[in-house]
Amino acid sequence: MKVNGQKIDLIDIYKPEPDEIQKYIQDYMNGLEDGGYLTPQQVDHLMESLDLNLQQLMNYLLPYATKFALPPISGYKVGAVLHGISGAIYFGANIEFLDEALSFTVHAEQASIAHAISYGETGVDYLTISAAPCGYCRQFLYEIINCPSTKDITVLVNNDSNTLTSLLPQAFGPQDLGVTTRLMLPQNNNLQMVPPPTDPYIISALNTANTSYSPYTSDYSGVCIVTNSGSYVGAYAENAAYNPSMSPLEAALVLLIMSGDSYTNINRAILVEAINNKCSQLSATKDVLSAIANNVVLEYYTAT
Ligand SMILES: [Zn+2]
Repeated sequence: MKVNGQKIDLIDIYKPEPDEIQKYIQDYMNGLEDGGYLTPQQVDHLMESLDLNLQQLMNYLLPYATKFALPPISGYKVGAVLHGISGAIYFGANIEFLDEALSFTVHAEQASIAHAISYGETGVDYLTISAAPCGYCRQFLYEIINCPSTKDITVLVNNDSNTLTSLLPQAFGPQDLGVTTRLMLPQNNNLQMVPPPTDPYIISALNTANTSYSPYTSDYSGVCIVTNSGSYVGAYAENAAYNPSMSPLEAALVLLIMSGDSYTNINRAILVEAINNKCSQLSATKDVLSAIANNVVLEYYTAT
């Protein structure tokens, strides 16, 4: 399992003395290349081998998700373990950006959702978090529910189980603005660039913009980040209350971090967004990019 570009020693993940189940999970996770994600088959294998139910397994995995946290300002690490309706599990962790406004901070719950979306996950049933979900995240998560794939989300904190709707009474959401689609449902925004791009990473950014969720402003946008060892895409995720919206760069950085890669390996960053919208990702993307990779010039394209 790699974190921040380096293979990490998982020996201290459970303290003080790991029990038999913890030892088994430790060995299993140590053997994985992509430590931030478990396939449905891997989830089933762990539950059957260890005689655990899903909630128990998710609690055991929480320390692994927390390992990915990058909070250089607060030093407060939060982990999230999300179970998608496909049966796969995705980790999330909080991310802070030194020298940038706190509003750019990504919370662990948001990271787990962006991570799941990047794998094509279309719904969530369980979410385990190492700390209580803040109001901001409750609002962000509310954008997903009340649809056929995710009617509600069970939120688990320290074995305390609540539905999202019970954690956010009198909620304001997409239905109040007449929006019927939901975050995580497949989107097809039909953006095109003229002439069509031939660079594979620009094509990736355009394709990701076409899957982005922007029912309120139509600022369909996507980012592709290229590093020495891979490329990572992120789609814009808008919210009915606007502020908890997640930028495409933040979503791409979540995938980079959850894949074990590092900011220091970034050598290209591409933003594609719809032209003539009510808002733009350009200035915010430049700002955050300069905070983590100040030698990389943002490549910017518009599409119609
Ligand atoms: Zn939060």
